[in-house]
Amino acid sequence: MKTPRLFLALFLSLVFAAPVIAQIREENIRAELGFLASDAMQGRASGSNYERIAAEYIGSQFRQFGLEPGGDTDSAGNKSFVQRVPLERAPSGATWNAIGVLRGSDRRAAGEVIMISAHLDHIGVNEALTGDDKIFNGADDDASGSVAVMELARVLASGKRPRRTIYFVCFGSEERGGHGSRYFIANPPVPLTQIVADLNLEMLGRPDPKVPAGTLWLTGFERSTLGPELARQGAALVADPRPEQNFFRRSDNYILALRGVIAHTVSSFGMHTDYHRPSDDVSKIDFPFMTKSLNSLVKPVRWLANSKFRPTWLPGQAPTR
Ligand SMILES: [Zn+2]
Repeated sequence: MKTPRLFLALFLSLVFAAPVIAQIREENIRAELGFLASDAMQGRASGSNYERIAAEYIGSQFRQFGLEPGGDTDSAGNKSFVQRVPLERAPSGATWNAIGVLRGSDRRAAGEVIMISAHLDHIGVNEALTGDDKIFNGADDDASGSVAVMELARVLASGKRPRRTIYFVCFGSEERGGHGSRYFIANPPVPLTQIVADLNLEMLGRPDPKVPAGTLWLTGFERSTLGPELARQGAALVADPRPEQNFFRRSDNYILALRGVIAHTVSSFGMHTDYHRPSDDVSKIDFPFMTKSLNSLVKPVRWLANSKFRPTWLPGQAPTR
C-alpha cells in the first residue's frame, strides 16, 4: 500500500514543483560592494588605474558566472572581459569598460540584445579636502549599480539560458564625459537596431522616501513602453518622482538613447546629501532594501530576454539632443 502512494507523491511533486529560480543574495551584494567602495580602491577615478582594477574585478566575476568575454582580443586571439578605451588625458592613458555576454539560446532570437549597464568609475580622491576622509568611495554612485549588474548576471546565468542575448556592461568614465559608453556605442558589438533595450542601473543602494517602500524608479518612464511593461511583469518600478532633475539625461543611458536605443536608468536616489561627497560610504547602504528591490527585477528581465516584446518610444518622446 505504501509504495504506490510514494510514487503518486513523487509524480505530483515532479508535475507541480515550481522551477527553482535563483535569487540575489544579500551576502553577495555586501561582498562586491564592500570591495568596490573600499578605501583600497581610492574612489575609482575616471581613467585611473583604480578604475582599471574595478573593471578587471567585475570581468573576473563575469567569468566566474559563466559569461562569455565581450572585451578586447589580444594578439594571440584570446578574448578578455575588459575593453580598453584610449583616452590621452587619463592618468592610465585609457578608460576601462567591463563586458560579459550571456549568449541567447535561440538561434534567431540570439541576434537581439538586451543590455544591463552601470558605470564603474567614481571621482577618486581630493587631497585638498580638510578633514580625515578625502576618498570619494562612491558606494551608492555607482558601486551599487555595478553590483546590481553583477548580481543580475549571476542569477540570469545560473538558470535556463534565455532566448535573447544579454550584454552586461560596466562603463568607465561616466563621471568625466561618458567616454566608456560613447566608445561602446560608437563601436557596438551588434548593429544598434538589434539592441532591444538598455536598463542602466545608477544609485540604488538606498531607498527614496518619495516612492513606496522597496520600490525603484525609472528615468523617462513616460517616454517609452519599457517601464510600464516591466512593472506589469512584476518589477517594483515606478516613474521618476523628480522629473525636474532631468535624471533621464544624467547617466550613460542618455548617450545610448540619443542613438535611438530604448535606454533608461533604474535608480532610487532620494537626493541624499552624500552625493559626490567622501561620505558616500558602504556604511550608508541599505543592503536589505537593495536585495529586495533588485530581486523584483529578476523575473521581469528574464521575461524580457525570453519574450518577443520590443519596447518603442512613444510619439515625440525619443530624445534628439
Ligand atoms: Zn553615477
